[in-house]
Amino acid sequence: MQADRLRGTALSAIRFAQEIAEQTGGSWSAAVIGNQAVDEVAGRVASFGPAKVFTVTGEAFGHALAGPYAAVLESIVAKHGFQAIAAASTTASRDIMPRLAARLKAGMVTGVCAWEARGETLAYKQKMFSGGVLAQVALSSARQVLTVDATEFGDPTPGAPAEIVAFDPGDLGAGYSARFVELRAERRDRPDLTEAEVVVSFGRGVKDPANIANVEKLADHLGAALGGTRAVVDSGWMPNDLQVGQTGKQVAPKLYFALGLSGSIQHVAGIRGAKKIVAINKDPEAPIFQVADIGLVADMQAAVPEMLELLG
Ligand SMILES: Cc1cc2nc3c(=O)[nH]c(=O)nc-3n(C[C@H](O)[C@H](O)[C@H](O)COP(=O)(O)OP(=O)(O)OC[C@H]3O[C@@H](n4cnc5c(N)ncnc54)[C@H](O)[C@@H]3O)c2cc1C
Repeated sequence: MQADRLRGTALSAIRFAQEIAEQTGGSWSAAVIGNQAVDEVAGRVASFGPAKVFTVTGEAFGHALAGPYAAVLESIVAKHGFQAIAAASTTASRDIMPRLAARLKAGMVTGVCAWEARGETLAYKQKMFSGGVLAQVALSSARQVLTVDATEFGDPTPGAPAEIVAFDPGDLGAGYSARFVELRAERRDRPDLTEAEVVVSFGRGVKDPANIANVEKLADHLGAALGGTRAVVDSGWMPNDLQVGQTGKQVAPKLYFALGLSGSIQHVAGIRGAKKIVAINKDPEAPIFQVADIGLVADMQAAVPEMLELLG
């Protein structure tokens, strides 16, 4: 995992490792790599009972560039010999882990959402086609590289504190084809979409950018993150890093508001981890009602101001 703080997405991968170790009688270790707060993150990870936590610090790891990250993971695996190497499925790991798999000549499964032991090997379940197909995949390679669905495995359980070992990456070589140039990120006061407990999302039913202000007010009243569909992103009404769905972010809040969005298969692929979904749509046949826990057939332009009034 990339350090600076322990992200919610990493917890799912840690729980995945714990489950496998518990049920197969094996053990798991963790690598915490970064340029700041590495010891702090490693301390937290150690409290979940791995065999060891390897820490790697250095300027090369200040940004999640696939080249140096894959190289250092490869040298940890070469020295300590792990069978399976897993990371939470995130934008960074989707870049790093395939490169690691290639370097290790390992088979790879992405977006693992379940697993089972099959004799000496493990078989994995993986969602495909926006969750429309659940594939079962078994790898024949000796080494396995996995990305783990960031919302599927829940929180890790505490365990006996582990030894923290500083790993010296040595000379990682140079000449990676990508280098960090600049980060242009918008500063936002709202919680991060992938970690928020409440998410308020809207779709094309918002009709006019002027109506977004009320949705934002609702999000702020609820201390929620704001998200949206690809349709609103494509319309230029929302920055693309707030898109939820198959080609956007996967979210797992306790409460997800789906306002004026149809519930396309691609959008729903990003909200399967949500505990409760509240949908407001003026069309009673909208597919979002098939996955919603609470549904209101209403015009969101009327319903959202009413909710704001009730909230005071
Ligand atoms: C390869 C691929 C990847 C994709 N990835 C994503 C993705 O990651 N995320 C994503 O969201 N989409 C994605 N899409 C697009 C997706 O297929 C849909 O087009 C999109 O989700 C629709 O957005 P929407 O629900 O806002 O719009 P629409 O489908 O137009 O739905 C608008 C909804 O608003 C309702 N509505 C209208 N007026 C009101 C009102 N006044 N009050 C209440 N309700 C109202 C309508 O009844 C309708 O249900 C992808 C598509 C492809 C092909």
